[in-house]
Amino acid sequence: MLTDKVESLRDEMVRAMVEMIKIEAISPEAGGKGEVKRAEFLEKWISDFGFDEIKRYDAEDPRAEGGVRPNIVATIYGKNRERSIWIISHMDTVPVGDISKWDTDPFDPVVKDGKIYGRGTEDNGQSLIASMYAAKAIIESGERPDYNYSVVFVADEETGSKYGIQHLVKLGLFKKDDLVVVPDHGVPEGNEIEIAEKSIYWVKVTTYGKQTHSSIPHTGINALRAGAKYLVEVDKELHERFSDENPIFGPPVSTFEPTRKEENQPNINAVPGEDVFYFDMRLIPEHNIDDVMELMNSVADRVSKETGAKVVPELFRGEQAPEPTPPDSEVVVRLKNAIEKVRGIKPKLVGIGGGTCAAYIRYEGIPAAVWSTIDETMHQANEYCKIDNLVNDAKVFALLGFSRMP
Ligand SMILES: [Zn+2]
Repeated sequence: MLTDKVESLRDEMVRAMVEMIKIEAISPEAGGKGEVKRAEFLEKWISDFGFDEIKRYDAEDPRAEGGVRPNIVATIYGKNRERSIWIISHMDTVPVGDISKWDTDPFDPVVKDGKIYGRGTEDNGQSLIASMYAAKAIIESGERPDYNYSVVFVADEETGSKYGIQHLVKLGLFKKDDLVVVPDHGVPEGNEIEIAEKSIYWVKVTTYGKQTHSSIPHTGINALRAGAKYLVEVDKELHERFSDENPIFGPPVSTFEPTRKEENQPNINAVPGEDVFYFDMRLIPEHNIDDVMELMNSVADRVSKETGAKVVPELFRGEQAPEPTPPDSEVVVRLKNAIEKVRGIKPKLVGIGGGTCAAYIRYEGIPAAVWSTIDETMHQANEYCKIDNLVNDAKVFALLGFSRMP
């Protein structure tokens, strides 16, 4: 059986993970050299797996080692070669953060109690190694998958995806009828398939007042006080007005969070003349950014009149979420069946606050499903991957290739 084949590769998977994590792959934006060394390692590692095709799609980036950000696509030809199943994971990792919080060397992985500790073992090393060994198991089984079966290792996921998945989308690799899985989000139970995301909007709010000495405040207009009044009032009104719920999302509502606050002045003894803060908003599809801005502007007008300051909200960054992946699309159905077969559970379909590679696939009108089984230790000190999750997720990926399970 195919799943037994995967199981027999368990030790090799652990070895591959340990060797891969030793090679740093941090984006230049985050102070690293990029992914080229790790990509070269992976190309070599899979060179004798028996793929029908292994291709590199490098994106130029003079800041990175080798001048490129590498992307690897390794393919097994299917019975039907008109369509493809893609499993997309990323090679890059975030930096280690506060090294004193780590119990082990983040780039010298330690295997302990059924876990592998190291930076990038969970995000996204687990899915990368799992997909690679799912493919190896398929090749060794001698069965051709229903469609082309491609495992994709992309660069630059943690810092915007311009040189990674966006580069591949631009090259036209992905077609309307393809099936795409992005295993870069999940829960410990492995029972959530993400098919939708919220729209992300960041709004910058600037309040202009009049600076003066704080012992004679009546001669100025306090921008901080006016901005704070606006924050409290608009926050309340946004939550009241945009209160619809969409149960597929966790949480089921649009969220409006005041987050960043810029420093207005270094000294304490002046009434600030200008003040800036930001909202991070995640909107369910029922809510639209134009309506949100309309409300923000009308509250701004009112607070400006009441305080004498001028409150100006403006869109800082905005991304309308792509259309959700249909719950009955073939990729979702196959994924559900495979998860049920391997883990004996019925996964539910969910939406999240946004932000995986899957968005760029969905913008092309191609259905993409996001799923993996993880303890959610990513981006933290002592990040780890559970070896059982590594192996069981690989079984699920292998079964995805076949509508009739071998
Ligand atoms: Zn990730």
